[in-house]
Amino acid sequence: MPYEPVIGLEVHIEMQTRSKMFCACPVVDSVSAAPNTAVCPICAGHPGTLPVVNARAVEFALRVALALGCQINPVSIFARKNYFYPDIPKGYQITQYEQPLAEHGKITLHTSQGEKTIRIRRAHLEEDTGKLTHVATDWESDKRITDSADEAEKQKSGEPANRQTGKSSNEKTGQSGKSYSLVDLNRAGVPLLEIVTEPDFRSAEEVRLYAETLRALVRYLSVNSGDLEKGVMRIEPNISVRPRGSKTLGTKVEIKNLNSFRALERGVTYEIARQSALLGSGRIVLQETVGWDEGRQATYSQRSKEDAHDYRYFPEPDLPPLVIDTAWLERVRAELPELPWQRAQRLERDFGLSAAEVARLVEEKDLGEYFEQVVQAGVSPRLAFAWVTGELTSLMNAAGAGFDFSKVHPKELAALIGLVAAGTINQPTAKTVLAEMFTSGQSAANIVAARGLAQISDETAIARLVAETCAENPAEVDSFHAGKKTVFNFLFGQVMKKAGGKANPQTARALLSQALRQK
Ligand code: ADP
Ligand code: MG
Ligand code: ZN
Repeated sequence: MPYEPVIGLEVHIEMQTRSKMFCACPVVDSVSAAPNTAVCPICAGHPGTLPVVNARAVEFALRVALALGCQINPVSIFARKNYFYPDIPKGYQITQYEQPLAEHGKITLHTSQGEKTIRIRRAHLEEDTGKLTHVATDWESDKRITDSADEAEKQKSGEPANRQTGKSSNEKTGQSGKSYSLVDLNRAGVPLLEIVTEPDFRSAEEVRLYAETLRALVRYLSVNSGDLEKGVMRIEPNISVRPRGSKTLGTKVEIKNLNSFRALERGVTYEIARQSALLGSGRIVLQETVGWDEGRQATYSQRSKEDAHDYRYFPEPDLPPLVIDTAWLERVRAELPELPWQRAQRLERDFGLSAAEVARLVEEKDLGEYFEQVVQAGVSPRLAFAWVTGELTSLMNAAGAGFDFSKVHPKELAALIGLVAAGTINQPTAKTVLAEMFTSGQSAANIVAARGLAQISDETAIARLVAETCAENPAEVDSFHAGKKTVFNFLFGQVMKKAGGKANPQTARALLSQALRQK
């Protein structure tokens, strides 16, 4: 490919504290909570109210910034970003501009091409906006268009779109007077951390890995649930392309509306191809903000890009400078839990698992913790991994809930695996027993005893079953001797059936071959 993609990411992470950034309103689930039930005069922007900083939100932000290896500014300044739109009742958003909370961090990614370090430019505190629902009853019956978690559909600049727009509710508004927008301020004032990288990414794969790593991090730090679909974490890539070998940056396009990792990867791939094709045919890329249309699997123009000076940033006069003293910082640092990449290193080192296996245990934190408890209960890492990610995960998935420790205690799973290792039950029986443990909560030993599932390892008993089977299936035995070796599996199945599935399979197999050889 003659063009090289250059990408920088802006990620907004809601900090799921109990209350909002500058008032005492609760932070509620924006999908399930009734609209405008978590609103007060401060987050509704009433004149004369004053914001107060939520110390817990600052602490959450410090956790993330420290984990990313950022320098923390001992003094940072809140600023007003001015714009007019109904999702922001004050007419401005409180954010940090010239002096952010944190700067100069990094994340190391393990890509298919090797290690790659992404530099974090800054991480700053701000407040989220409200949520708009555009109702357009005139051209599609009662269809509601919700502003995608961030600023989709907004055309603050009012300029016409540069490219054919896949959907633009604004165009329809006013045609018949039936279109209107609903404002929900539950999300207005929810604490946000915005993390901005340097333009260090060179592929969609790197972008995806970064987003996954960041999500794992905020989950480990108990800052955010990581539900991209709910918009609590919003990833906005800025993409440009340039001729390979060039050192200057091309014109960038920012993508919004990416509500899943898959959409993120596809959106980035799409933009790289679109821009490369434009340059390849001698045209230019326009600087703009585009949205991702999941239905059409394409980006569409939302607005031409505003510049920072359009926002008339100035220091927030209602808030003092934010001072982080050393004692506070050191306490937060000391309380950081094991981070995802630290866990990955430890699991790889101590348990001899592959990088892919480790990645799975790190990404799914609960699963990883469960796995470790099974190992602590004396099971080999290899066996523990197989059972936890195999049979147990299937049962959990079928039950439809998240990973639930209470269903089968890790010690109980270890005990079950121990019964197989000791030869008390065989592998297929163990699966049946696990399914019953999962529903009844009984211990493995109790189930095996109550249902008489203990494996038959007694050679005499199995030899008798083999002899019976051969006597009852003379035609099959003959065709085996005539060279049809696959009949062995049928006969073996008959032996196991006679044993009620409980015969030691290795013993049964050996005794059956022996019997057939003797004939
Ligand atoms: P804005 O003020 O428009 O948001 P910034 O310069 O602050 O733009 O950068 C926003 C993000 O875009 C950062 O992650 C940055 O690394 C990235 N970026 C800036 N210029 C380019 C470019 N030409 N190509 C790709 N990414 C870029
Ligand atoms: Mg931007
Ligand atoms: Zn409030």
